[in-house]
Amino acid sequence: MLRILLIEDQRDIAANIWDYLEHRGFVMDHAGDGALGLRMALEGNYDVIVLDLGLPKLDGLDLCRRLREAQQDVPVLMLTARDTLDDKLEGFAHGADDYLVKPFAMKELEARIRALHRRHRLQQGEVLRVADLALDPANQTVERGGQRLALTRAGFVLLELLMRRSPHLVRHAELAQALWGENGGDIATLHTHLSVLRSVIDRPFDTRLLHTVHGFGYRIAESVDA
Ligand code: CA
Repeated sequence: MLRILLIEDQRDIAANIWDYLEHRGFVMDHAGDGALGLRMALEGNYDVIVLDLGLPKLDGLDLCRRLREAQQDVPVLMLTARDTLDDKLEGFAHGADDYLVKPFAMKELEARIRALHRRHRLQQGEVLRVADLALDPANQTVERGGQRLALTRAGFVLLELLMRRSPHLVRHAELAQALWGENGGDIATLHTHLSVLRSVIDRPFDTRLLHTVHGFGYRIAESVDA
C-alpha cells in the first residue's frame, strides 16, 4: 500500500485526485498550502509526493528545494498548469522527479506514481559500479577489488555523484553544490577533497579511475578517453 502526500490548493482538483487514488488503494494525506505541505513531507513517511507548482505560502519549486536540502529523497511528481519547457527544467533543477501538465487523466497520474515508486525502490537497492569499484548508497559503503575503503563524508558524496554520471564529466559547480548546496564552498577545498578521494580509491591500485578534466571538473571512468 503506497502512502501519498497530495499538496494542492485547489479543492476540486484535490478532491478528485484523493477520491480516485483512495479508490485505487492508495493511502492519502492532503495539504492545502505549501507551508503545511513541507511540514507534513518532512515529518511523514511518504512513498510519493504529488505536488502542485502554484501554491499559497510556499510554492512548489521552493518546497521541493527545501525538501531536498533536508536530505529527503522521497520521489516528487510535480503538477503544473503551464506547459512550458522552462517550468519543467526548473522543476527538475529543484529536485522534482517527474511532472504532469494539467489537465491530466487520473489513469496517467496513477501510472506515473507507480513508476516513480518503482524507480525509487530500485535506486535505493542499487550498487553503483565502475570497473572494480563499487559504491552502495543504501549502506554507505565503498569497495574496490573486494577491499573495503574508508571515505570521508565529503569523499562519499563526491564519489556517488561521479559514479552516477560515469563515464561523463561532472563540473566543478555541480560537485560543489553536492557538497555545500547552492551557496557554498570554494574550489580549492573542492580540489583538496578530490585529492583525498583519489588517494583512497586510486593510489593503492593499478588502474586510475578518477580523472581530472583541467578547468572543467572530474570524471570517473575505466579508461581515460571513454
Ligand atoms: Ca495551485
